[in-house]
Amino acid sequence: MQILEGIAVSPGVAIGEVVVIDNEGFRIPTRFVTRDAVDEEVLRMQHAFDSVAAEISRNHERISDQLGVQYGAIFAAHLQMLKDPTLVNEVTGMISEKHHSAEYAVSKTLRRYAKIFQELDDHYMAERAHDFFDLEKNLLGKLLGRRRESLSKISTPAIVLAHNLTPSETAKLDPRFVLGFATEVGGPSSHTAIVAKGLEIPAVVGTGHFLTDVSGGDVVIVDGDHGQVILNPDDKTLHRYQEELEQHRSLAAELSVLRDLPAETIDGVRIQLGANIEFPHEVNACRERGADGIGLYRTEFLYLGTDEEPTEEDHYRAYAHVIQSMGDRQVVFRTLDLGADKLGQLPRHEEENNPFLGVRSIRLSLRNLDLFRVQLRALTRASALGPVRVMFPMISTLQELRQAKMLLIDTMEDLVEDGYELKEKLEIGIMVEVPSAVLMLDKFLKEVDFISIGTNDLIQYCLAVDRSNKDVANLYRASDPAVLRLIETTIRQSNDAGVPVNLCGEMSTSPKYVPLLLGLGLRSMSVPPSSVPEIKQVCRSVSIEQCEAIAQRVMELESALEVDAYLTDQLRQIFPELAI
Ligand code: PEP
Ligand code: MG
Repeated sequence: MQILEGIAVSPGVAIGEVVVIDNEGFRIPTRFVTRDAVDEEVLRMQHAFDSVAAEISRNHERISDQLGVQYGAIFAAHLQMLKDPTLVNEVTGMISEKHHSAEYAVSKTLRRYAKIFQELDDHYMAERAHDFFDLEKNLLGKLLGRRRESLSKISTPAIVLAHNLTPSETAKLDPRFVLGFATEVGGPSSHTAIVAKGLEIPAVVGTGHFLTDVSGGDVVIVDGDHGQVILNPDDKTLHRYQEELEQHRSLAAELSVLRDLPAETIDGVRIQLGANIEFPHEVNACRERGADGIGLYRTEFLYLGTDEEPTEEDHYRAYAHVIQSMGDRQVVFRTLDLGADKLGQLPRHEEENNPFLGVRSIRLSLRNLDLFRVQLRALTRASALGPVRVMFPMISTLQELRQAKMLLIDTMEDLVEDGYELKEKLEIGIMVEVPSAVLMLDKFLKEVDFISIGTNDLIQYCLAVDRSNKDVANLYRASDPAVLRLIETTIRQSNDAGVPVNLCGEMSTSPKYVPLLLGLGLRSMSVPPSSVPEIKQVCRSVSIEQCEAIAQRVMELESALEVDAYLTDQLRQIFPELAI
C-alpha cells in the first residue's frame, strides 16, 4: 500500500481499478491473462521487443549517417537497454510466472527501472528515466497497436491516473465509467478541477510523481475529500473507505430532502442559491439538486469538448436547451472565457510566458470579433426564450466593458434588422475577478446591472499565485485577509449602490466560508450543482446576526491560517458533519 498526498479538488471517494493514461491520452490496459494464454503472451512480448529493436536499429543507422556516430549513440544506448537480458528476463518472468499481460509486465518493469533513475541525485542520470519511458511507450505502441483506446472510450468502471489532464480532456471523461481521477500536476482551482466537480467525479491533483509505481489493473482509492490517493490499499483501508462511500451516499440521501426548500436563514432571509454549469446537460443536476437558477454558465466549454469550431446554431441550440430547461429560473451566461488553461482548437496564439496574464477571456474575445459575434448573436437570440443575464469575464478596465457592451448592442441591432424579435433590455454584468475591477468598482457599478465575484481568479490575481500550480497551492487561499478585504469592499459597495452581487467562485462551495460571506452582506451565491444541497443546508442552519458576528471577528484576523481555523471551529458548532 502506498499513500500519496495531493490537493483535493472534487469531493467524494472512488475505489476501483486503475487505467493509466500516457502522455498522449491513451490508456495502458489490463493486468492478467488466463493460464492458457501465457505462451502466446510471451510471444507477443518478444515480437514487440524485436520490432521496437528493429525500429531503433533503423534510426541508429539513419541518424549516424546523417549527423554522425555521436548522435547515433543515443539509439545504441536504447538498443542496449532493450536487449539487456536482466530486463527481458524480468518481463518474461512476470508473464510466464505471474500470468501478467505483456502490457502490464512491460509497463511495470520499465517504470521500475525509470523510477530508480529518477531518484538519483545526479541530474544527468535522473534524466535517463525518460529513456525508459520512451521505450515503454514504443513497446506499448507495438503491443496495443489498434487496441489503443483514447480517454473518451473508457467504457468499464475505472479510475484514471495521468500526469496531467487538460480541461478539454477532462470534459471528455464519461462519469458513468470514470469513477475518479488523480493527476501528478495541477492546482486547487484549475479548470480541470472545476470540470471534475461539474461531472461529480472525485478527484485529486498535484500529487507529484507516482505513475511509475502503478500499472493498469492495480486497485486504487481516490479520496477527493482529503486529497489522498491510496495505491494498492490493504484490506483494512479498503474496508474503511467502503464504509465512507456508504456514508457519502446516506448524507446525499439526507440532503436530497432539501430540494424543494428555499435557501433561507433561520431568521428568514432568503439567499439566492444558483448553480454553476459547464455543459448544457448539467441542467438536470441543477433541477434535481434544487438550485434557484444558473448563476454561472461557463459557455467556453462548448469549444473544449470538440475539435470543430461551434457555429451560431450550435451555440443557440445549447443555450436554448439550458434556458428552456430552467423554465422561469434565471440563467447567467458568461461569454467566452477561453485562453490560459482553457485552450480549445482555436484560436491559436503565440506561446505565452504567462498565459493567465495574457490574451485570455474578454481580451481574447475582443481580439477575435468574428468568434465573439457568433456567440453574441446566438446568446441574444436565445435570450428571448427566458430570464437571461449576460456577463463578461475578466474585466480589468472600464474600456473593456464599454467595448463589449457596444458589441452586444451592435449585435442586437443587426438581429433586429434580420427580423428577430428580441427582449427590450438584456441585463448586463461583469465578473469581478481582477483587483483593478474592485479598485474601480464605484465606476463599474454605474454601468452594469449586476456583478459576480469570481474568487478563483481574484485569489490568483490578488496574491500572485497561479491557480493551477501545485507548488504554490499552499499560498492559494480564499481566507487570506487581503482576499477577504477585496470581497468585503465589493459586497459593501454593491449593496450600497443597490446593484445585485453574486459570488460564483469555488469559495462558496466550502461550507465554512458561507457564514462569513453571509455576514459580509452577500445574499446570492452559485456553486457546482453537487454542492447545492450542502450549501443550502448551511444557509438554513444560521442566522444573519450570528453570521455578522463571525464576519466581524474574521475581519480582525491577520492570517489565512487563523481565519481557516476560526471558521472551521464555527462550522463545527453549527453543523458538525460538514466541518472538514
Ligand atoms: C472565477 O474565476 O472565480 C470563476 C468563477 O471563473 P473561472 O473559474 O471559470 O475562471
Ligand atoms: Mg475566472
